Amino acid sequence: MSDYPELELYIGGEWRSAGQTLPVLNPADESTIGQLPIAGRHELDAALQAATEGFRVWSRTSPAERANIILKAAALMRARIEMIARSITLEQGKPLTESRAEVIRGCEFFEWDAGEAVRTYGRVIPSKPGIRYMVLQQPIGAVAAFAPWNFPMSQPARKIAGALAAGCSIIIKASEETPAGALHIARAFHDAGLPRGVLNLVFGVPAEISEYLIPSDPVRLVAFTGSTSVGKHLTGLAAAHMKPVLMELGGHAPVIVCEDADATTAGRISAERKARNSGQVCTSPTRFFVHERSYKAFTDAFVERARAIRQGNGLAEGIEMGPTANSRRVAALEGLVADARDKGARILTGGSRTGNLGYFFPVTVCADIPDTARAMHEEPFGPLALISPVSSLEEAVAKANALPFGLAAYAFTNSARTVDYLVDTVETGNLSINTLEASVAETPFGGVKESGYGREGGTEGVEAYMVKKNVSHLMT
Ligand code: NAD
Repeated sequence: MSDYPELELYIGGEWRSAGQTLPVLNPADESTIGQLPIAGRHELDAALQAATEGFRVWSRTSPAERANIILKAAALMRARIEMIARSITLEQGKPLTESRAEVIRGCEFFEWDAGEAVRTYGRVIPSKPGIRYMVLQQPIGAVAAFAPWNFPMSQPARKIAGALAAGCSIIIKASEETPAGALHIARAFHDAGLPRGVLNLVFGVPAEISEYLIPSDPVRLVAFTGSTSVGKHLTGLAAAHMKPVLMELGGHAPVIVCEDADATTAGRISAERKARNSGQVCTSPTRFFVHERSYKAFTDAFVERARAIRQGNGLAEGIEMGPTANSRRVAALEGLVADARDKGARILTGGSRTGNLGYFFPVTVCADIPDTARAMHEEPFGPLALISPVSSLEEAVAKANALPFGLAAYAFTNSARTVDYLVDTVETGNLSINTLEASVAETPFGGVKESGYGREGGTEGVEAYMVKKNVSHLMT
């Protein structure tokens, strides 16, 4: 309990409490670890005013100076890795090793975007004599951002990094269930000397905050990561005020295991990846379409590794998988497994909550799962692996593309010809071959279809927070 920070709002460079609070729970034992202040209208108005002033100052700060402050904050976060990682494990449940990796990943987002800040080039367009056409990239303005609970530090980091590198100010509403990850980011920027009002951190009732901030005048861009249904709602709100959005929404990642692949290795590493963050990752490998000749080897290896995964309190030594982050996930997973069983799937391991204290749910394998099962359409967002045999590459791709999602997709193959076919046909924003890593700081990440639009990371991740201005200059 003492390791968990005191929770505060951060508005206009000041730490604030609020009249109302919400308890924050540890998902490993359901104990209360903190009290979170809840922003009301008064605090939101203060944040809007601060972001207006913050934008005025920050957009006129040189890119090199912006990069310096971002790098300084990232260095502080690296130095504080143990404290931040512990907070993440306490509030979200993942093993400490994963929390440390998350902090490093978050720092990489800051470091990459700081590098991009000084390279947001425009262009000069060849013109007839006497006139010059220039295209400049300029920060869009104040950003309203909403980050979810699955990665308490790296999800807010991605949005704050892009916005600050571009020269925008930001009001971020991080998750009420996992607030400390974002709080540690705000602390690092505060200590790094970020001007007041550039970064503002609030918590509260999500719908009330989004409905108030999105239409408000200084907000020029809405950035959200979360479910497709909430993303559609926020996109509608933004559209009513003609504001652009950056939407990282749901996924339901297919994994195509081809006949030529090493099915045993693919099965083992897939089980390990499924356990990452207890499967609560929008890119988590979920629908496994395995060539019928490799099906048994793949499934056996997956189940063997899944059964061996050590699940427990993420603070304990040697733990490979923590609890799911909240009771909603356990209820949702139990419902999906019961439906899959009813529809004829074989549950080869897992299938129900472990114990009755903490939100523990094991890696669960549903083999021979029919397309009609609910889990094959709804994002499980938990450690559920759905395995079915296919008899051809074409059949696998058709099944992979059958859903309205298109965020991450994976394949195991050693054939260049197969890779070429997959690159051309799989409907996804991110395709990974022989690896289950979907994105890193230097590559653009985002979805197609109902998985959202816009990209975070890469060069695109900073450009998303900028607008292009065309300047026509007639020499007189
Ligand atoms: P949810 O759909 O209620 O909430 C998802 C996220 O959106 C949360 O962070 C929540 O605080 C936020 N949110 C909800 N309503 C909002 C509103 N009106 N305005 C602003 N923010 C709002 O469900 P949940 O139980 O928290 O999560 C379950 C589902 O969300 C999962 O099944 C998964 O599909 C999705 N999810 C996706 C990601 C991701 O990384 N893409 C992360 C977390 C959750």
